[in-house]
Amino acid sequence: MPDIKPLPPSVINKIAAGEVIERPASVVKELLENSVDAGATRIDVSVTKGGSELIRISDNGCGIAADQLQLAVASHATSKIREADELFSVQTLGFRGEALASIAEVSHLVLRSRTAADDAGSELEVVGGRAGQTVPCACPRGTTVEVRNLFFNTPVRRKFLRSTQTEMGHVSEAFARVALAHPQIHFTLTHNEKRLHELPPVENWRTRIESLFGPDMAAGLIPVAGDDPLIRLSGFVADPNLSRGNNRMQYLFLNGRHIRDRSLQHALSEAYRGLLLTGRYPIAFLRLEMPPEEVDVNVHPAKLEVRFQDGGRIYSELLGTLRKKFLSTDLTARVRSTAGTTGDESAEAHDASGAAQHRRELVDWAKGQLPDPSANQENDASPAGLPLRYDPPDFKPFDRPAPASADRESRRPMSSSAKPGDAHPAPAPRMAPNALQVHDRYLIAEDESGVVVIDQHALHERVIYEQLRERILNGHVETQRLLVPETVSLAPAEAAAALDARELLAQLGIEVEPFGGDTLLVSTYPAMLANINPAELLRQVVEQLLSGGKQPDRRDLLDELLHMISCKAAVKAGDRLSAEEITSLLQHRDLCQDAHHCPHGRPTALVFTREELDRRFKRI
Ligand code: ADP
Ligand code: MG
Repeated sequence: MPDIKPLPPSVINKIAAGEVIERPASVVKELLENSVDAGATRIDVSVTKGGSELIRISDNGCGIAADQLQLAVASHATSKIREADELFSVQTLGFRGEALASIAEVSHLVLRSRTAADDAGSELEVVGGRAGQTVPCACPRGTTVEVRNLFFNTPVRRKFLRSTQTEMGHVSEAFARVALAHPQIHFTLTHNEKRLHELPPVENWRTRIESLFGPDMAAGLIPVAGDDPLIRLSGFVADPNLSRGNNRMQYLFLNGRHIRDRSLQHALSEAYRGLLLTGRYPIAFLRLEMPPEEVDVNVHPAKLEVRFQDGGRIYSELLGTLRKKFLSTDLTARVRSTAGTTGDESAEAHDASGAAQHRRELVDWAKGQLPDPSANQENDASPAGLPLRYDPPDFKPFDRPAPASADRESRRPMSSSAKPGDAHPAPAPRMAPNALQVHDRYLIAEDESGVVVIDQHALHERVIYEQLRERILNGHVETQRLLVPETVSLAPAEAAAALDARELLAQLGIEVEPFGGDTLLVSTYPAMLANINPAELLRQVVEQLLSGGKQPDRRDLLDELLHMISCKAAVKAGDRLSAEEITSLLQHRDLCQDAHHCPHGRPTALVFTREELDRRFKRI
């Protein structure tokens, strides 16, 4: 064994840098936090090539005095705490004194700064951890940090950088988190000379959320506020029909710091239990303010996770507040105000019926949570009681079995004649010349061997899957060009993933283009999915892309997307089919390569052979 020797400082610093600085977005996060800590009211972020070439952040904060510049880039030097005790009461975002040193270690860094007290500014350049001389320079009050050629001296890290779009997606996300946490600060984000975000200071948090995520998101936000004086909870959760396939849109801020916290994510899911399908996640923008000594923020190198003194109390506060909110008049008012739109026959009728479904689930759920159901019934019956009608006219009162209703959120291309809103009592069997639909979910048909019971959703899913796959393999998915391309605003990481997968999407017949910021333009969609809204389709596909995790094989991914699309496009259990639809579905069954299994592997049909029936009826 060779002798044990201390590592040279440059190696130590590179190791430390690796912990804090993982990719350009980490630089953006650290520098933004420094600017916030410096009391800036305006912060401009400018990035070239996803941040791998240049990241420049300028602020109008307190600045750094000339004789402090060298210290600012030295490791473990900070102006934010002095004593170990203060670690447990930090009010600033930074306190480790590591970020600038780490960044400077793995890049070409230029720091320019001027305090209000000084007439001239000063400048310091650091290349791969080697600091030059501090020299005077002209600059406005505040600080500008330029970071070029990130990881130029750590080729392994550089090699791991993903495409410009992906890195930029992460940068936008880091930017969004800080911008959300500090609505009172004016932020801008520019990429390759193009302005992506211009966020003037706002009083109202919803306005900031809207600037970042678009008006649809803002319109679906439900304000929430807790009542624990020690743990002040406020913010918004989103209408259940704005759910996502992952928890990336759950923004939690603790004392102005963005955090991820499993137990709070769990509380959110609990609060939405019964309102969302399995695998769907609520959207939330929540702020928690509590005394700093109640949390330890020094448990994660990038301070992304924290440890609460009393985690249970915060969990209950969040869950309790949301539950109460969902039961409150405010939510029922939402139910009522939107219910009026379900009756119209406009182009959005399908959308509206989907929304109506969700609202019903909300109300049903809320009813289930009320302490005394009989008291509730009284209210329900009395005309002067609750202003809410629990049974809107389009309510199917009896035939919505809970698990099946779970996958009924999308459009139903085959069943144009049967609106989900059709009111009818227990389902009567439906006759087609060659089959019978029972319970709005199974088809009973006869074939040469015996009686076949078919799961309408599973079979239709299989049919669509095979047709689409066939066309993709032959390279000609017929596409439908939209008269007016549709804009879809996504979360930064989602937009990046969609653009990364552009080619794959084109194979599926979905053409997307960047449209500034995190908005994409969808210009075509697969013609055979004419009844699915293209924007919705893209969202679903992107979720699938992101939930893949590790880089899946291209073919697998395509197959996954095919599964997803067919499942969305297929008729659902609970959909009434017309006689023609039943016939058409059965004809397609004969053409299927594997008519026996849905793409997920569930059987599409059960066969009771004549022999078996004979045996059971003791004929033989
Ligand atoms: P930390 O933020 O943990 O203190 P950093 O390495 O990020 O460590 O920064 C080191 C020090 O440099 C800070 O404590 C602060 O005094 C100073 N500093 C860094 N960025 C700025 C800025 N934008 N404006 C004013 N001072 C800054
Ligand atoms: Mg810092």
